[in-house]
Amino acid sequence: MTAKSTMLTLNNGVEMPALGLGVFQSAPEETAASVTTALQDGYRLIDTAAAYGNEKEVGEGIRRSGVDRGEVFVTTKLWLSDYGYDATLRAFDTSLDNLGLDYLDLYLLHFAFPSAFDSTVAAYKAMEKLLADGRVRAIGVSNFSAGQLRDLIDRTDVVPAVNQVELHPYFIQRELRNVHANLGVVTQDWSPLGGVNLYWSAAPQAGQSPLEDPTVVKIAARYGKTPAQVVLRWHIEQGLSAIPKSVKAHRIAENSNIFDFALTADEVAAVDALDTGLRGGPDPDSIKADSFG
Ligand code: NDP
Repeated sequence: MTAKSTMLTLNNGVEMPALGLGVFQSAPEETAASVTTALQDGYRLIDTAAAYGNEKEVGEGIRRSGVDRGEVFVTTKLWLSDYGYDATLRAFDTSLDNLGLDYLDLYLLHFAFPSAFDSTVAAYKAMEKLLADGRVRAIGVSNFSAGQLRDLIDRTDVVPAVNQVELHPYFIQRELRNVHANLGVVTQDWSPLGGVNLYWSAAPQAGQSPLEDPTVVKIAARYGKTPAQVVLRWHIEQGLSAIPKSVKAHRIAENSNIFDFALTADEVAAVDALDTGLRGGPDPDSIKADSFG
């Protein structure tokens, strides 16, 4: 199967597929199969993290797929417990080892650590070394607020290529996206289908899914597409990167079958209008060592 996704150019010239497969909460025994299915369906980006506990299975899925390593864009993330310069270099080796790879495409700081921003900066400086040494093709961050991004940029040399943040029709992050555009940072959207509202019990809109929203359902019927396809198309058409998670083969295929139709400007605006301004997941400014239990 040939690659399906459109591509985005990062601020260092590296090309990244706009659409990828996420594997947060994919059980290890399901991860390898879902990665193989996705790659055989034409996905070329896989998003994992040290904290997901499934890097080994991601590597296994890539190898089983038969797709050349050079065609696959692999992202993983550094967890908070490994922040600091030397700890980051060690954690990177562990992640590469787990993945069974000899280089990485994108390495992200999983969160900023507001109460230990010095160790956040030190971790990023270690990532700059990994980049300079050719061990990773691009570096970036995740869950950074605009202020955290500016503070990091002031204290380091390489502008992050990506900020991966919560973004879906109920939380469209207009202001942060404008900041990213001005800084040359690609916005990558986690929970692109709004999944966080279904598994994060503290979410203010727990239980509410954009996939059941009448506006989305109506647009989907107009094109003979599913609500998930409309939502993913809404991300891609705005130059955003989206990394939907599924462990079900039919949904993995469904989520990538979005490159044969387009939304009108009015339809994009109608989905934008669903924004509540309320995030489902944790606030970037409130991350503490025990934020995740
Ligand atoms: P998503 O918005 O991708 O939603 C995933 C949920 O939707 C799963 O329950 C999945 O179930 C279901 N689903 C998938 N496809 C469909 C479909 N076509 N129709 C109906 N339901 C569907 O949320 P996530 O929070 O999982 O985010 C995606 C990825 O983003 C993660 O896997 C991870 O890689 C990344 N992420 C990063 C974070 C960060 O802090 N940087 C935080 C959270 C996520 P099923 O698997 O059963 O199909």
